[in-house]
Amino acid sequence: MTLKDKTTVTFYNGLTTIGGPMIEVAYNKSHVLFDLGEVYRPELKLPDESYKTLIKNELIGDVPNFYDPKVTGKPIDTKRWEHSAAYISHLHLDHSKALNLLAPEIPLYAGPITAHLLPALNEKGNFLLPAAGHDKNYTRPIIAAEYKKPIQVGDISLEIYPSDHDAYGATGLLVKTPDKQIAYTGDIRLHGYHPDWVRAFMKAAKGSDMLIIEGTGVSWPEEKHDENSEEFTGPKNETELTEEIVRLQKENPDRQITFNTYPTNVERLLRIIADSPRKVVLNAQRAHLIKESLNKDYPYYYLPAEQKYSDLDPALEVSYADLLTDKHKYLWQAVSDYDKLQEGGIYIHSNAEPLGDFDPAYKPFVDQFAKKKIEFIALRCSGHADEKELKEIIDGIQPAILVPVHTLHPELEENPFGKRILPKRGQTITL
Ligand SMILES: [Zn+2]
Repeated sequence: MTLKDKTTVTFYNGLTTIGGPMIEVAYNKSHVLFDLGEVYRPELKLPDESYKTLIKNELIGDVPNFYDPKVTGKPIDTKRWEHSAAYISHLHLDHSKALNLLAPEIPLYAGPITAHLLPALNEKGNFLLPAAGHDKNYTRPIIAAEYKKPIQVGDISLEIYPSDHDAYGATGLLVKTPDKQIAYTGDIRLHGYHPDWVRAFMKAAKGSDMLIIEGTGVSWPEEKHDENSEEFTGPKNETELTEEIVRLQKENPDRQITFNTYPTNVERLLRIIADSPRKVVLNAQRAHLIKESLNKDYPYYYLPAEQKYSDLDPALEVSYADLLTDKHKYLWQAVSDYDKLQEGGIYIHSNAEPLGDFDPAYKPFVDQFAKKKIEFIALRCSGHADEKELKEIIDGIQPAILVPVHTLHPELEENPFGKRILPKRGQTITL
């Protein structure tokens, strides 16, 4: 370290899009990169997901000295950078999909749940982008970091904190250089299962020189966020969401009830299973994911001709035929063949795919239930802090510099405690 060494932060992607933040913190000969996701824009209908296509469409950042030279064709400058590491905050694709593009020799850190779940999610090779020279179901090594224990990367240290978001095991990050501290929220909320963890992270991050905060919740100012608006009658938090699913079961004892959730929102699924009066039956693929990542066994069913999983307990299998004819015993996860569901039944779509109106697949998906006279109920709970929660997080951390990312409207987040910077894509800020 010499006196002229300064901490720099470079913003490569994910600034005015929902998702895909790629940010580098550098000091002297050390540098770290977070996250490694791909911006989700299904409407682009890209012909492929090659490195070139992703760079050209700005779905990933054009980050030098981190990607695998086999992918980029450009060598890594190891003289300039003696110490490198990367981190992903959580397992959503807009934060993790590109992790296999990281050069194999650069260590990748994540919270323990994220590190264990990702290889299971990518078992069929349809979750992550492929790694050069490997089968598509390969997941590069991810080091399961111990919470709050500093990870030294040359002059830089990383501390990973448990946080709360609608991805199981989501974390936040503190980056410390010899003279500066940078806090990165990842995706964050205060209305989930663990607001206490978020507040502990805020406390640890208090007085940071820079706070990089997500701003999904201020992306649609014209709508004012769902949860706070007067017309909004849906769940305000995860607890209310589970309560609503329980209520639907109690009030409809004689209707077929099916549901689906997003695979990575494991915690919501576990609460639904725990609280439901009906027996919850998962599709085998989801049951396998839970078995593989958490070693927990739940009742499951196979679709006709579905691949069999040797790790599932045969005693817990429920026949698909029984589910299709049932009206009161089961709450089961429907994942396809919706035309086989009973007329007059209920289907609960709880942030499952297709996620919403922005996806061209959403409307036809919803319409098919109406055609079958099945009640379609969208029960959502946001994984992201709303405007009020974002203010509370900023108030708790009181950063010298605020950098809003991961939002369509970064200008709507303000910093009463110091500066706010809205970097351009590729811009470097020297602290
Ligand atoms: Zn997320």
